[in-house]
Amino acid sequence: MNYKNTADFAIELDSKDELRSYRNEFYIPLQKNGEEHIYMCGNSLGLQPKRTKQFLNQELDDWATFGVEGHFHAKNPWLPYHEFLAESYAKIVGAKSTEVVAMNTLTVNLHLMMVSFYRPTQKRHKIIIEGDAFPSDIYAVESQIKHHGFLPENSLIKLRPRVGESAIRTEDIAEIIQSEGGEIALIMLGGVNYYTGQVFDFEIITKLAHNKGITVGFDLAHAAGNVKLELHKWEVDFAVWCSYKYLNSGPGSVAGAFIHEKHHKANLPRFAGWWGHNKEERFKMPDKFNPIASAEGWQLSNPPILSLAAIRASLSIFDEVGIDKLVLKSKKLTDYLVFLLNSIESDRIEIITPKERGCQLSIRVKNGDKKLFDSITVKGVIADWREPDVIRIAPIPLYNSFQDVFKFYTILEEEL
Ligand SMILES: *Cc1c(COP(=O)(O)O)cnc(C)c1O
Repeated sequence: MNYKNTADFAIELDSKDELRSYRNEFYIPLQKNGEEHIYMCGNSLGLQPKRTKQFLNQELDDWATFGVEGHFHAKNPWLPYHEFLAESYAKIVGAKSTEVVAMNTLTVNLHLMMVSFYRPTQKRHKIIIEGDAFPSDIYAVESQIKHHGFLPENSLIKLRPRVGESAIRTEDIAEIIQSEGGEIALIMLGGVNYYTGQVFDFEIITKLAHNKGITVGFDLAHAAGNVKLELHKWEVDFAVWCSYKYLNSGPGSVAGAFIHEKHHKANLPRFAGWWGHNKEERFKMPDKFNPIASAEGWQLSNPPILSLAAIRASLSIFDEVGIDKLVLKSKKLTDYLVFLLNSIESDRIEIITPKERGCQLSIRVKNGDKKLFDSITVKGVIADWREPDVIRIAPIPLYNSFQDVFKFYTILEEEL
């Protein structure tokens, strides 16, 4: 598409945008002067859907009306409440509804998955992760390695881009799988790297890894609700994600997990809790754990219904729009942003996100000069700064407009 670097052109793109009415479904935070912020931070905390309140109120009202009986008599009974999310969650990650479950938080789920899927032996004990993975993921994998009596120095392989490059090449991952495959137990990558915004080639990496007997899991914190996923088809072994970034379910809201169906009856080792127990006999309080033969079998506790209600509210929007339309608009928004940024003549900024990306762009600022970030913040932009030198920007197709993108660009250009 031939983009133009004018406000009128941004207005025209908005007028042609089939999803433009969805902006109205969200609360856009206001500046002190009463104008809307240019909110480009949905990759960190998604905005609140207006309908969330109604979903929460339903459960608060039913709690007031029924007390404990709400487990059975609430409009949406709490006992099976997590099941009401399964179909929508499954669409987000490209899975069967039996392969996903809403539970816990992301890092907790990552640990639970590694309990089942990281079973190191003297010969095969290594984990592959991105060198610049989100710190929580590094802490989690390192602590698992130590938990099994190994040393991160010997057992953790950190992927790095080549010198002078920002993204990790698939061919370099293939090379490590080829040369060290016999010693690698698990590949655990951020499906979309949180720092660079790089989307990994899920399908190829999974295939190459499986050929060498390696288990594959993805952290989809920055992928769920952002890019199209086909976890079932790609035969990914497990995945985890949070619901408060692209999935707009509120700070710290309950996360999700995917376990491929081929593992459901495999009797894998796991940490167990009563909510994972066979539903027919759960309340007979038997001593012996008998897991549900689906992703639900990994649940520990009865889940926080208020948080699940917020996720349902948000997922109902994703159900209406569908991931294909979202991704289509996301590409246009981000392509437009790239076009505008490339038109700025300054050597102080550089886009480090490769073309394999979702909606996030990472802009490297020369010499890690955070003043640039601070000055656009004063002008009404909400983005984030990631040490040492990156501003992350994510135009979100559900609520950001082409005019947001254009305004962001004019502010950045002015400050440069
Ligand atoms: C956001 C994010 C997390 C956050 O973990 P919580 O357990 O939800 O606090 C973890 N990993 C990655 C890759 C993230 O982007």
